[in-house]
Amino acid sequence: MKAAVVGAGWAGLAAALRLRDLGWETTVFEAGRTPGGRARSVDSAELGMRIDNGQHILLGAYTETLALMRGLGIDPEQRLQRLGLGLRSADGRYRLQAWPWLPRPLHLLAGIAAARGLGWPDRLALAGLMRRLRRRQWRTPPEATVEQWLQAEAQPGRLVRLFWRPLCLAALNTAPSQACAQLLAHVLRDSLGGPKSASDLLLPRTGLSELWPADAAALLDMRYGHAVRRLAYLPTHVEIDGMAFDAAILAVNAPVAQRLLRQCPADAAGPAFLDRLDALDYRPIATLTLRLAKPWRLPWPMLMLEDDPARGWHGQWLFEQLPDRPAIAAGPGPADKPACPEAPPAVTVVVSDARAAARLSRSDLSAGILEQLRAQAAALPPMPEIVAGELLVDKRATFAAVPGLARPGNATPWPRVWVAGDWTDTGYPAVLEGAVRSGRSAATAAAAWTSARGTG
Ligand SMILES: Cc1cc2nc3c(=O)[nH]c(=O)nc-3n(C[C@H](O)[C@H](O)[C@H](O)COP(=O)(O)OP(=O)(O)OC[C@H]3O[C@@H](n4cnc5c(N)ncnc54)[C@H](O)[C@@H]3O)c2cc1C
Repeated sequence: MKAAVVGAGWAGLAAALRLRDLGWETTVFEAGRTPGGRARSVDSAELGMRIDNGQHILLGAYTETLALMRGLGIDPEQRLQRLGLGLRSADGRYRLQAWPWLPRPLHLLAGIAAARGLGWPDRLALAGLMRRLRRRQWRTPPEATVEQWLQAEAQPGRLVRLFWRPLCLAALNTAPSQACAQLLAHVLRDSLGGPKSASDLLLPRTGLSELWPADAAALLDMRYGHAVRRLAYLPTHVEIDGMAFDAAILAVNAPVAQRLLRQCPADAAGPAFLDRLDALDYRPIATLTLRLAKPWRLPWPMLMLEDDPARGWHGQWLFEQLPDRPAIAAGPGPADKPACPEAPPAVTVVVSDARAAARLSRSDLSAGILEQLRAQAAALPPMPEIVAGELLVDKRATFAAVPGLARPGNATPWPRVWVAGDWTDTGYPAVLEGAVRSGRSAATAAAAWTSARGTG
């Protein structure tokens, strides 16, 4: 059986690997030149180094992603740095750290009780809400936003500012006033409700493409630089830009999937399905990478910043780039430069739900973040000299995780065509684990459908 996978993001590659394991001949079409999609490595001429298309964090709860890596013969512990659950602010005034030597959920309760920067009313409110969430099986009122839910649960303002808002922005890339409380509760269920390791934070030690997508791509028939434009749906097969396949998985973003599916023959269920893809709205993420003259050893690899848009301070997190990433040599025109073993020292500053930040000029946004860093990182060892900076703004970083979304599953009204991606109905917000799960389930469904028809 022959399958086409359109898109070599984490969903498309996960789908293609599963189809390959099931014995399918699989061709992956990718418009870009690098595997990984939104979670890919980018060669920055500005910095003379390889960076990520935005800082990413994984969680210990990303079980399918970690299983996929192991299936490729990769030890996730080698390529990811595992940190216990901990939130610390750059100014040192706030710190909430789970106690890893205690059993669950005591490890978290002890961390809440000992949190720096929270008063007793905050600590009791947080512990109480976690207990209630667990008792209610991680269910929140239907259609509630995070803000409405936190108000109904009487969460104090300081706790919202220091804990809930940063968590909501980081996990859902959507402001609490608009974000879906139930999706946030799903993230909490899988991380805090799972085994203790599920709430660990996993930071890439390599570039995102080198984490596993490049290993996967090496096993697959990859067609880079091929942006698929035509999808012909025929009674016996599908044609992708004139090439015939038994099935196709569209692992592209929702607007591209919609554009391709519109070319399928009219179907009674078609318009409603396509409308669901249209209903998604998007939120940007901005990432400022600073290449430094010397390593800046932070007390914790990710530190919270307090944004204040009125002052032009949009940074929310400061990350130290782990040193063992592959790098390209310094200097302009890096596309043809070979990887060299040591990456130059760098930090990144992340702005989630960056709609206001994205309206600023690049230089104003970067200057505001630098001013913010100097003010809020004053308690840290001094920041080394900045060699160069690059600001990446991904305008459609994730869909807006608002309540009431009717996200489609993998099946489309056209049985030989499936969709996959973080925007499908994974139960998660737009995250890597959702993309991987979606890709794998689309491939399993495609193979099951084919064998049920007796053609597999
Ligand atoms: C800046 C940023 C930070 C993020 N941070 C995190 C984080 O910390 N943790 C986390 O879990 N998630 C994070 N995410 C979300 C995560 O990156 C996505 O959920 C995930 O990468 C989506 O994968 P995907 O395969 O569904 O889609 P994509 O990665 O978008 O893959 C789609 C692929 O299809 C290709 N394509 C499009 N059109 C065509 C065409 N016509 N023909 C061929 N190919 C085509 C694209 O080039 C792309 O490679 C972040 C995202 C961004 C942008």
